[in-house]
Amino acid sequence: MRRARHKSDFLVIGSGIAGLTFAIKASGLGSVIIATKKKNSDSNTNYAQGGIASVLSPEDSFEKHIEDTIAAGAGLGRREAVEMVVRSGPERIRELAAWGANFSGRALPGGGRAFDLGREGGHSTNRIVHAQDLTGQEVERALLSKVSGIKNIRVLEDHTSVDLLTEHQLPGRRRGGRTHCYGAYILDNASGTVGTFTAKMTLLATGGAGQVYLHTTNPEIATGDGIAMAYRAGALIADMEFIQFHPTALYSPASPGPSFLISEAVRGEGGVLLNTKGERFMEKVHSLKELAPRDIVARAMDYELKRHGATHAYLDISFKGETFLRDRFPRIFQRCMEEGIDISREPIPVVPAAHYLCGGVKSGLDGDTSIKNLYVSGESACTGVHGANRLASNSLLEGIVFSQRAYLAAGEQIKNFNKRDRIPDFPEWSKKGTFDLEEWVLIQHDIEEVKRLMWDYVGIVRSDKRLRKAHRRMLILAEDIHDYYKKSTISPRIVELRNLATVAKLIIKSAITRTDSIGLHYNSDHPLPGARKVNVVLRSGRAPVLAKPDGN
Ligand SMILES: Cc1cc2nc3c(=O)[nH]c(=O)nc-3n(C[C@H](O)[C@H](O)[C@H](O)COP(=O)(O)OP(=O)(O)OC[C@H]3O[C@@H](n4cnc5c(N)ncnc54)[C@H](O)[C@@H]3O)c2cc1C
Repeated sequence: MRRARHKSDFLVIGSGIAGLTFAIKASGLGSVIIATKKKNSDSNTNYAQGGIASVLSPEDSFEKHIEDTIAAGAGLGRREAVEMVVRSGPERIRELAAWGANFSGRALPGGGRAFDLGREGGHSTNRIVHAQDLTGQEVERALLSKVSGIKNIRVLEDHTSVDLLTEHQLPGRRRGGRTHCYGAYILDNASGTVGTFTAKMTLLATGGAGQVYLHTTNPEIATGDGIAMAYRAGALIADMEFIQFHPTALYSPASPGPSFLISEAVRGEGGVLLNTKGERFMEKVHSLKELAPRDIVARAMDYELKRHGATHAYLDISFKGETFLRDRFPRIFQRCMEEGIDISREPIPVVPAAHYLCGGVKSGLDGDTSIKNLYVSGESACTGVHGANRLASNSLLEGIVFSQRAYLAAGEQIKNFNKRDRIPDFPEWSKKGTFDLEEWVLIQHDIEEVKRLMWDYVGIVRSDKRLRKAHRRMLILAEDIHDYYKKSTISPRIVELRNLATVAKLIIKSAITRTDSIGLHYNSDHPLPGARKVNVVLRSGRAPVLAKPDGN
């Protein structure tokens, strides 16, 4: 039988903003394979509405954007990373526009474009570049169109990465020394074959993990695969306790699947939050009212819901009128109409939902990880930009800047690789198994349980008791899932279930290790921030470590 072996200079796992921008550039240095587990546009990127934060107005400054980012991150961010991302922003935005992303704005008489800049929570001024409320879709479209014209890039849709190729996969490997990554085992979803994909540099761009929660704005692909793969391979993982819950997802009990997001830009345009009694509650909570940082708004919502025993609150933007709302928020207008809600006449029912993961695979300023030849960018990375909380619209920005940094490192990376390294002869994927319907049903049930457990015990407000209970339950569930993984035939869903269980454990472990409340992590038994600012860093088989934010 022919062995399914594939070779490229660069292996990119994921086709969102982080993977595609890196691939476009790296294709000038060597051959690129992009493996993506569904269709090429299935990504969180495609769902982003609000936009990309960047300093493009004469009234704005790098210093203001840097300070807003550090303040939102509750001082737990890495200043060097924040400065680098903010200062590189305008160039990267102009590059996206030059590649065909059609951002809202107007053409200037002497050439160039004046972007229409929106405002979002936590930003001290208008700086959100957007394409109406379809920013991510427009960026993804432009990037995929650019990729399709590049011969050096092969895009493999319906290819699910299962595990990284490191020394751990080699029989009789030596212990000790730094781990190296040489690519990944990747499942062709259609044929069920797992191929060996070797590369001189691998970029993890697999996005976030919102699917670990019952209610999430993230699409189905967001199962934390890259983080789980990197953790199994021994990479450092950091800040997993910091999950951003978006305060305003559409409350739509009849619609299954991801919760539809009502962008923060709606509050930026003056939208007000009301409880079920019709009272505005953010005025009592924060001086920025509805535009307070998201964690504060989400906790205030959580409190209001619990106080009134309500399933949802309301967001009212009706006073802006139909013409404005149809033009500024076409997607939101249309989606709410489909649910029978005319947002120009009535308030929108909203609930909080898991939205963004600040933590991930710990990286340096070039997207480099603790594993040699393995880089990371986008939501699966923990670059230190977000600290304890992400400032709205900073994530797309972080993705494009870190992919550019990884590209700048890529030239040296492959030059050095050619001089020093040799790709070992990895064994073929050998896991065998059978499909057992009975077991499968039980496992599906387990995953529902993981999602509910994470929502109820490791959600917006946490407590020691709930975290301990979550930990105990999760160990049992993870063991069941692991056993099933070992026995069953490989499939995309079982790969995801295994990864969701790992990511859930990482979130719980990090939340237990942190014994204060800061940014997105709120534990009612330790409601105040600790005297020392520290990040929780995890590594497989080791006890959690507390590290200083700037000590990378
Ligand atoms: C509803 C919504 C609105 C948002 N709005 C904004 C906004 O306005 N501004 C902003 O800055 N951010 C926003 N965000 C966050 C932002 O969209 C994401 O952080 C960002 O798009 C992440 O990009 P990425 O390239 O890292 O990952 P993604 O875009 O999620 O791409 C991940 C890719 O990896 C693939 N993949 C995953 N696992 C595997 C595997 N095992 N094998 C192969 N492929 C795999 C996926 O299929 C996908 O192609 C929003 C997010 C959501 C969900």
